[in-house]
Amino acid sequence: IASGNVSKTNKFANWTKGEPVPFTTLCKTFEAIEKETKRLIIQEYLTAFLTKVIELTPENLLQALYLCLNRICPEYENLELGVGEGILVKAIAESTGRNSTSIKKDMRALGDLGSVAKASKQSQSTLWTPKSLTIPSVFNRMKTIATTNGQESQARKLGEIKGLLSACTTGEEAKFLIRSLEGKLRIGLAEQTVLISLAQAIVLKDPQYQKLSKSAKASELAEAPNILKAVYSEVPSYDIIVPKLLEFGVKGLRKHCKLTPGIPVKPMLAHPTKSITEVLDRLEGHKFTCEFKYDGERGQIHRLENGTVKIYSRNLEDNSQKFPDILEKIPKVLKPNTKSFVIDCEVVAWDNENHCIRPFQVLSTRKRKDVKEEDITVSVCIFAFDILYLNGESLLQKPFSERRQSLYDAFQPLRGEFAFAHHMDAANIEEIQTFLDESVKDNCEGLMVKISEGPESTYEPSKRSRNWLKLKKDYLTGVGDSLDLVVIGAYLGRGKRTNLYGAFLLACYDPDNEEYQTICKIGTGFSDAVLEEHYKFLKQHEIEAPKSYYNYDKNTNPDVWFEPCQVWEVLTADLSISPVYKAAVGVSDPTKGVSLRFPRFIKVRDDKTPEDATTSEQIAEMYKGQRQFQERE
Ligand code: ATP
Repeated sequence: IASGNVSKTNKFANWTKGEPVPFTTLCKTFEAIEKETKRLIIQEYLTAFLTKVIELTPENLLQALYLCLNRICPEYENLELGVGEGILVKAIAESTGRNSTSIKKDMRALGDLGSVAKASKQSQSTLWTPKSLTIPSVFNRMKTIATTNGQESQARKLGEIKGLLSACTTGEEAKFLIRSLEGKLRIGLAEQTVLISLAQAIVLKDPQYQKLSKSAKASELAEAPNILKAVYSEVPSYDIIVPKLLEFGVKGLRKHCKLTPGIPVKPMLAHPTKSITEVLDRLEGHKFTCEFKYDGERGQIHRLENGTVKIYSRNLEDNSQKFPDILEKIPKVLKPNTKSFVIDCEVVAWDNENHCIRPFQVLSTRKRKDVKEEDITVSVCIFAFDILYLNGESLLQKPFSERRQSLYDAFQPLRGEFAFAHHMDAANIEEIQTFLDESVKDNCEGLMVKISEGPESTYEPSKRSRNWLKLKKDYLTGVGDSLDLVVIGAYLGRGKRTNLYGAFLLACYDPDNEEYQTICKIGTGFSDAVLEEHYKFLKQHEIEAPKSYYNYDKNTNPDVWFEPCQVWEVLTADLSISPVYKAAVGVSDPTKGVSLRFPRFIKVRDDKTPEDATTSEQIAEMYKGQRQFQERE
């Protein structure tokens, strides 16, 4: 760690040992991070700050991390901040004595409500000095705001926010407070960086570390983030990890934090491919297996030691209330010795009369919350394809062939209710092609091809792995995969579409720059009913001005802008370089972005948040893959 930057942030990282960490210290660190673009320096700033917290007030470490991540609890607890723009505008207005109209005007000019709050705070004179904000006081009030619901909740939230705002002593505090409440901190601090800094700060404060040689110190610092990242993908909860880190250090973490039923694991993801030849090239020399790729929604089913069953979505949301029928099925399909487990499955709509899979669209008509079993009209069948944990033992490190055997040993299929993913150990183009055709006939999306033996066949939580390849039926006509894009604007409709939005502006996500980059205008693939639904939903998310983190060209300006609030799955004929769209700008061409040709709407992806959208890196890769493919043909 280059000490220059560390001492720079440590300059403002001072408070008395044992006292709560001042919020202003965190805000100064945020300010330094926001101004910096180099990831390593950002990491150093954060490591320096966290090291100080561990040294002076370790009991605030967990809350400090949550504020850095702009969260208030583990992702799987489904509790989000995301206070609406309207209420924040009102809070700024009322606590600074300005009016809402002028605040909205400033917001249009600055594109960021946080900066408006900062400017309003700076121009405001205070007659008395309020009690300074601390990390615990801010965190606890944010949690109160997020959990306030029911009658008069808006008024109560407004009161809490005004209280926080008037206790800000600097413009920076007001800025980061407002951004955090919006759920959009956006200072360029990725979760991976937080994990690295946390691991390194813990190591730096470990008394044993000081006794090591120079080279041993370096290797300890380099290894610690890998251990923490691996543990976090198995147990994605800082609530659980942080106390263990403080007690046992990074090295002791593996022993004390393990995959546990009841805590969802970040699922392993697959890599898209465009042809069977590409699959065979990648897998040469490996044993592999092909499975049907079912078209439903991913379900991670857990059974705890006490018999409780839970089901989590791809995004770790607890879907147990949505699928009471699944919870009910599970006891019927267990073999006698199966007690606790975690399995990876696809939940698919099922036609009980004709005994076949129904299209995804049917599944998406199911209610999301408070589903009563007697009201269910769309039956589902579970297609299990992996097992991660069985009877007290984690199976993540076992080869896939062994995991599959464990799955077969633990469950008893039941027609139309629970099945194992259909598979075949095909080895050549013809066999794979035949199996692909068969999958399509059975209403599947194509195939998943997985390495089945050896060290590359372990389960890799949260990774988009090249050891799992997806081969979709549309691969010959498209770009190998559909894209999941965020709708950020709309063009008003004409003719039949008057009073509705007629077309939309879509964007991909660039996690490095934390921005949405425009990729195309889309007006195809919508039925009248779908257009109406989009209008109803998106109307509530219209905003006054584009966000500062939208990267767009004014030639594509839509009539209305939206908050990033919904992800759409889209198919395209191909990708091309564009003078006006910004996806992956600077990657395939120094100044131009990539855009979609003939995009077509497929469906809303409720299981993805805007930040889970297709990334600019994936777009650049697809564009490159398409060019290589064209050159080969
Ligand atoms: P990604 O998760 O890769 O970002 P996505 O959510 O759009 O993309 P797909 O591209 O459809 O998903 O591919 C992966 C998904 O396929 C898995 O998340 C899972 O829900 C589904 N799936 C269906 N059958 C299988 C199978 N046999 N093995 C693994 N996944 C399967």
